[in-house]
Amino acid sequence: MQEKGLLIVLSGPSGVGKGTVRKAIFSQPDTSFEYSISVTTRKPREGEVDGVDYFFKTREEFEEMIEQGKLLEYAEFVGNYYGTPVDYVQETLNKGKDVFLEIEVKGARQVREKFPEGLFIFLMPPSLSELKNRIVTRGTETEDIIHNRLQTAREEIEMMELYDYVVENDQVENACERIKAIVKAEHCRRERV
Ligand code: 5GP
Repeated sequence: MQEKGLLIVLSGPSGVGKGTVRKAIFSQPDTSFEYSISVTTRKPREGEVDGVDYFFKTREEFEEMIEQGKLLEYAEFVGNYYGTPVDYVQETLNKGKDVFLEIEVKGARQVREKFPEGLFIFLMPPSLSELKNRIVTRGTETEDIIHNRLQTAREEIEMMELYDYVVENDQVENACERIKAIVKAEHCRRERV
């Protein structure tokens, strides 16, 4: 029987550079996984192509997809819907190919529930990583940190627990290399038996 592919989920806080890292990964010729193109109700930005960057839909069309169970996950982000078509993911995994999702954190949580065996990678901004280190290693430091920054950090750290790996996005190339190394290692680990 054909081995199933790996479902790779890249997520993280808004503004961390998920899209940039994803594009860099898929611009490399040795990348072997398939990108799952999302559906969105957001208007295309200049240069974006329907069916390449996203499948652009109206709100009505999107809501119909929700009702028909065509989405593996979806979330509303800054006034627009974003979602992952379930059929493409299932079919590609069944062919033994790895599928890569680049989605925001609410969607990633839904995918975790449906695909607990997926590989979940949290992309973290370097400043939060520093903050987390401080919180972890010197628990008392928290009082000195500005309230809302700490609050954000707490929320991020809580969400991080859902993930298998945390990758710091200090530089795009470094983040790409780490993500690809994680995928390789994960294959070795899973194929061991
Ligand atoms: P943008 O509008 O900048 O392309 O994307 C906004 C946010 O939506 C980003 O954080 C991106 O990762 C996320 N996103 C893109 N596609 C999906 C999807 O299919 N599902 C979810 N939940 N988020 C998505």
